Amino acid sequence: MRVVIAGAGLAGLSCAKYLTDAGHTPILLERRDVLGGKVAAWKDEDGDWYETGLHIFFGAYPNMLQLFKELGIEDRLQWKEHAMIFNQPNNPGTYSRFNFPDLPAPFNGVAAILRNNDMLTWEEKIRFGIGLIPAMVQGQKYVEEMDKYSWSEWMKRQNIPPRVEKEVFIAMSKALNFINPDEISATILLTALNRFLQEKNGSKMAFLDGSPTERLCEPIADYITKGGGEVRLNAPLKEILLNPDGTVRGFLIRGLNGAKDSVLEADAYVSAMSVDPLKVILPQAWRELDNFKQLEGLEGVPVINLHLWFDRKLTDIDHLLFSRSPLLSVYADMSNTCKAYADPDRSMLELVLAPAKDWINKSDAEIIQATMAELEKLFPQHFGSENPAQLLKSHVVKTPRSVYKAIPGCQACRPDQRTPIANFYLSGDYTMQKYLGSMEGAVLSGKLTAGAIAKDCPVNPNSQSVADKFEPSALGRG
Ligand SMILES: Cc1cc2nc3c(=O)[nH]c(=O)nc-3n(C[C@H](O)[C@H](O)[C@H](O)COP(=O)(O)OP(=O)(O)OC[C@H]3O[C@@H](n4cnc5c(N)ncnc54)[C@H](O)[C@@H]3O)c2cc1C
Repeated sequence: MRVVIAGAGLAGLSCAKYLTDAGHTPILLERRDVLGGKVAAWKDEDGDWYETGLHIFFGAYPNMLQLFKELGIEDRLQWKEHAMIFNQPNNPGTYSRFNFPDLPAPFNGVAAILRNNDMLTWEEKIRFGIGLIPAMVQGQKYVEEMDKYSWSEWMKRQNIPPRVEKEVFIAMSKALNFINPDEISATILLTALNRFLQEKNGSKMAFLDGSPTERLCEPIADYITKGGGEVRLNAPLKEILLNPDGTVRGFLIRGLNGAKDSVLEADAYVSAMSVDPLKVILPQAWRELDNFKQLEGLEGVPVINLHLWFDRKLTDIDHLLFSRSPLLSVYADMSNTCKAYADPDRSMLELVLAPAKDWINKSDAEIIQATMAELEKLFPQHFGSENPAQLLKSHVVKTPRSVYKAIPGCQACRPDQRTPIANFYLSGDYTMQKYLGSMEGAVLSGKLTAGAIAKDCPVNPNSQSVADKFEPSALGRG
């Protein structure tokens, strides 16, 4: 079967890859001139890469890790020591670590929390542990039910001291969804905590050894083309054309640079665009259908990714850092963490600015200036009055609508990969799968879509379809 997919982010790439495995012929269309969507990266005139986002791969990403294995590129993941490292705002230039010992889960996580005495008192740890009991005992069902509360509301209900939120969960909430605990759904943090506490290496982190576009997306695209599929850049979906019965007749592709628009026909069609462009392009006739109407509850959240090159080394830490700054979220010195960006003499900091709603419309110069003021607190030893570190160059990448903003009530708005339209499917991290808005979620959603298509239209009806290979726990809600 020919399957046309609009959107070559990780969801679209994963969908096309697994359709190839199922014996179908995917044609993957990307609006931009670069693969990857929210993991896209570009090379500047000096040959330095800059990225849409600082991306971390977790041990708790089974589908992503399997994809690396299937592509034979596992060695591109640079695993870091099992720890979480937080800046200490009260003691500028110092760090507090949660070190996970080599013990089975959940003992390694519990030990990491109990052994850290910089951030939480014993009483706070115990009260937090008691607050978590319902999530541990009742599992995912409880976690999903808590979607009616923000994380702040949930903590209050569980009688957890507000200082726990201030010390730990502002940083976690910003890292997970680029918003603060009073906005984020409790389901998001409880899901992450469950993964991190239930899987021994769940919170272990890896950096890719280069840009995601080159080191991850291109191998997937090569796999697709070798399997008989196609990947087309600069091919924006302009309109979804319908048959009289409401099913899809074709995708109208916008002709660029004076070329005419063209119609692409196929046996099945997938939107792997993020939710915001999908909502704009939905045909009028579908808008009243519940599956599509519910998308109104989903909207991308703004975020800014910064790259700052300095004239010297600011740190030798080879890990992700939680800044705990009001302006910034996580950051890393990519000259230490990423092989392709390595530099023994100069730092390149990649930093996520979040929440970004008040910054997204500001100029790059204003954003850099505010970030430099924060860096003076994070690295006081390098920004004193005597011979301060010099910023050599910078890149600011703004994403006004990134992953869906995971506020309370959002879970009910996330659609299934199958739609009421017989030949139209959805992929994307916002669709229902258990890994929320993440690279793992995007890859799993693409796999689920490919599985649904393979099941609905098997190449050989007697053979086991790709869908049957998925573990049931990966499917649907929870
Ligand atoms: C700053 C930042 C940091 C992040 N950090 C992490 C992290 O550390 N770990 C993690 O797991 N996740 C992280 N994420 C989230 C992760 O990047 C996303 O969840 C994931 O990449 C989403 O993939 P997707 O395929 O669902 O959507 P997208 O990547 O948005 O892909 C959609 C694609 O559709 C294309 N498109 C749109 N309209 C059209 C059209 N009309 N025609 C054709 N194509 C179209 C877009 O150009 C895009 O390529 C981060 C994201 C950002 C922005």
